[in-house]
Amino acid sequence: MKLTELYQEIILDHGKNPRNLRKTENFNKDAKGYNPLCGDKVHIYLKLNENKKVEDVSFEGEGCAISMASASIMTDLVKGKEENEVKEIVEDFLKMIKETDQINTKLLKDDEKTKLMCLSGVKQYPMRVKCATLSWHTLTSAIDKSQNEINSEKMEI
Ligand code: ZN
Repeated sequence: MKLTELYQEIILDHGKNPRNLRKTENFNKDAKGYNPLCGDKVHIYLKLNENKKVEDVSFEGEGCAISMASASIMTDLVKGKEENEVKEIVEDFLKMIKETDQINTKLLKDDEKTKLMCLSGVKQYPMRVKCATLSWHTLTSAIDKSQNEINSEKMEI
């Protein structure tokens, strides 16, 4: 199987059967994101414990397969991580989408990196980049409580 085919398969799988598509009970952080270019909407719920570790993370939303797959993969990978680790993973992901084509963080295992690499293909379709990054910006916003609603039109990527 070619790598691109494997990537497509993973995206289709997560797009059709998103993981963590629900609302976390007793969440203590959340944020909404909207991508007007495509119509994608996402609401991220986080439950951090007293050690700032992600006890649970989930999302509700609707949108294209890429936005759903991205939120699904993201929530899977950041569960159990500490707040500062989550930020490192988000930064690394956005860097991959923007310039490097690589995931460098040591916080993820190889198979987890592969899942993120699947989304690097959106670079060939500039219109779809924000579909892939929406949930990541929204997660950052939830952690920082910087904005109540992210509008991807105002984001660089
Ligand atoms: Zn989209």
